[in-house]
Amino acid sequence: MNKIYFDHNATTPVLDEVFDAMLPFLKEEWGNPSSIHWAGRVPKKAVEDAREQVAAFLGCSPVEIIFTSSGSESDNLGIKGVAYAKKNKGNHIITTKVEHPAVLKTCKYLEKEGFEVTYLNVDSAGMIDLGELKEAITDKTILITIMYANNETGVIFPVEEIGRIAKEHKITFHTDAVQAAGKLPIDTATLPVDLLTISGHKLYAPKGVGALFVRRGTRVVPIIHGGHHERNRRGGTENVAGIVGLGKACEMAAADMESERAHLEKMTTRLEEGIKEKVPHVYVNGGGSPRLVNTSNISFEFIEGESILLGLDMHQIAASSGSACTSGSLEPTHVLLAMGNTAELSHGSIRFSLGRINTMEEVELLLDVLPPIVERMRSMSPLYAGSNEPVVFKR
Ligand SMILES: *Cc1c(COP(=O)(O)O)cnc(C)c1O
Repeated sequence: MNKIYFDHNATTPVLDEVFDAMLPFLKEEWGNPSSIHWAGRVPKKAVEDAREQVAAFLGCSPVEIIFTSSGSESDNLGIKGVAYAKKNKGNHIITTKVEHPAVLKTCKYLEKEGFEVTYLNVDSAGMIDLGELKEAITDKTILITIMYANNETGVIFPVEEIGRIAKEHKITFHTDAVQAAGKLPIDTATLPVDLLTISGHKLYAPKGVGALFVRRGTRVVPIIHGGHHERNRRGGTENVAGIVGLGKACEMAAADMESERAHLEKMTTRLEEGIKEKVPHVYVNGGGSPRLVNTSNISFEFIEGESILLGLDMHQIAASSGSACTSGSLEPTHVLLAMGNTAELSHGSIRFSLGRINTMEEVELLLDVLPPIVERMRSMSPLYAGSNEPVVFKR
């Protein structure tokens, strides 16, 4: 049985080209890029070449890129870095209820440090309301941090409009673009954002490397203190191999974006239509909003997502319930709850996130395997059994 991977929003495999580009820096080119002697020269150039690749991918200047250890670190640096840099101007931050924990928990932390945070609602389609955003702005607002695309539902937020609103009020705007990068064209030359986060391992580079775009003139206070690395903005000897991998992955993502999008869109559409056709009592979370072409978050009424996942795993099919960060706990996902789903419905949701390695044959295989699993689980569910006219949960 072939293994099938539908969990690309959790992590992606490292592309061969990325791996090959990294290898020399794990072996013969082990020097420290800060060294001025021979051993540092090639690694130093490799880091700066990668910075150019990331900058080209995001439409900015290489000096506007800070390499970090992860998407989480980039979010922390972007948010805390701006909050502390602007704390004399105000103490109010605006975000949403559906951010990744790297943003949500950073905001929670800042609340303990004396900052005030507004968490914007989303509607049942997972979309924010720009009117609510405008109303939340006060003369103390120093930062808006709103994700580009949601990792659980794939819902895409109107970052362009948000950026314009932020600019009008002279508020710094950070966006977590970890899930958008590689799936949507991002051009910071025209997009009104001041800071933007990406992560290597969501983009076919390895884990443990990320980047933060910081627009010229935007001050961030470092959160990792150390040497003069990254123009004094992030201490720590560079993860040279990881950075080279991220650079290569950005180059590949830019080159293949259009063909990949078409490929993903076809597969995701077939997956959703196939499931809706073959399985009753399902719906697509965020279905009414613009969404990433690779993400499909589906609620199966009356049953638990975890049991479906186990059934799929027996067929070597990997998907995810809630987000990878919350699976393992029985807490329903904060994203679906914020969309007004009941806890029961949130428990019955599965996220399929497709990627470059998937094929239409794999989607068809899922569509053969999934309906009987759901049917079997439902036949055992006390919520479903014995009822011809099953109770439909209120949303
Ligand atoms: C995965 C993810 C992160 C965290 O990135 P890491 O590199 O795993 O720390 C942040 N935001 C979003 C939207 C993500 O999907």
